Amino acid sequence: MTPGPTLIYSCSSCEKNIAYRTIDSGNTIGARFWTDGKRDAPMLPEEPWLIKCPHCDALIWIDNLKQVGEIGCLWNSEGSDVETFTNVYFAVFPSLNDYRYFNIANIGNPQKERYVRLQTWWAFNDCRRKSEELPFSSMDFENLRAFITLLDENDDTDRIMKAEAYRELGEFENAEKLLAMPFGDELKDAAGFIRNLNKQRITSVTEMIFE
Ligand SMILES: [Zn+2]
Repeated sequence: MTPGPTLIYSCSSCEKNIAYRTIDSGNTIGARFWTDGKRDAPMLPEEPWLIKCPHCDALIWIDNLKQVGEIGCLWNSEGSDVETFTNVYFAVFPSLNDYRYFNIANIGNPQKERYVRLQTWWAFNDCRRKSEELPFSSMDFENLRAFITLLDENDDTDRIMKAEAYRELGEFENAEKLLAMPFGDELKDAAGFIRNLNKQRITSVTEMIFE
């Protein structure tokens, strides 16, 4: 993995400095892939779109922040002074509850709504990745139902995600209908994997391991 520069933003809420790591290039060596589309890739860390300010806890979209500088690759420093910037702390990843209670009605941008709903689902599933079954709370159920309506069945990636959402909700017939449709080379193994779980009436989020 080659890290890119660390960008310095000024928080739109408290005006303090926030550092944001970027990646120049990465790879999926050692990565784990899950049926819900989440990828845990140590050599390709995420660059979150929505972040939490480490100073004032405000949730802010990166594209709404003003960049005030750039400090090369700064992978191991935390806090303290960095060159000309003082009181710089790294952006924090929002928690499940941050996503759950984010005011989606005020976003006014379908891509951002989709992003928050997907992150909410993934963060909820993070609890389920570690242990066996954890039933959907009504909040997470509503979120996933709303996410489903944003997906386009004519697009392979959207269709597989929609099928997975239906499977996790226990709507196996809806999932089967989508999984029976043809998928391109990139997704056909994953679709087969999910279809197999669906046929067994398994609803848990599962790591995809191909023999
Ligand atoms: Zn702030």
